[in-house]
Amino acid sequence: MEKEKKFLVDFMLGRLARWLRILGFDAAYYKDKEREGIIYRSLKEKRAVITRDASLSSRKALALFRVKSDNYLHQLKEVLKEFELEINPDRIFSRCSECNLITEPVKKEKIRKKVPGYVFENHNAFSSCSGCGKIYWMGTHKNLMEKVLLKAGIKWKLPQ
Ligand SMILES: [Zn+2]
Repeated sequence: MEKEKKFLVDFMLGRLARWLRILGFDAAYYKDKEREGIIYRSLKEKRAVITRDASLSSRKALALFRVKSDNYLHQLKEVLKEFELEINPDRIFSRCSECNLITEPVKKEKIRKKVPGYVFENHNAFSSCSGCGKIYWMGTHKNLMEKVLLKAGIKWKLPQ
């Protein structure tokens, strides 16, 4: 099996990082403006750098991809294409969009008070983030996601 690609997303690309995570990709976020640090961390954690910073040299980095667009949807499309990433329905919401941690399945009874009533009634599979406690279910922002991906020119329909 091909080893999973890991990314280090530069500080100006926060929305892109979130969307990569929502789709299940390992996308750490580099918050620091200090430039040498991003290369150092990418080597240490074996992550490909995704940036818009023209001053960053790709020579030192493990891999470096410079997105062209300033729109996060177009950036997402650029990244999917550049790294030949496939969207896997089983991976969606497998990572916390806030922390990049893998989410764990939770028993339905445990989250009764943590999600809106109609969500609790209409869904059975829930997972949560061990870092921030955020709860995810397949319907999380489903319509928004489809709209967003479609807008990005990414043909995709979430399973019902
Ligand atoms: Zn989290």
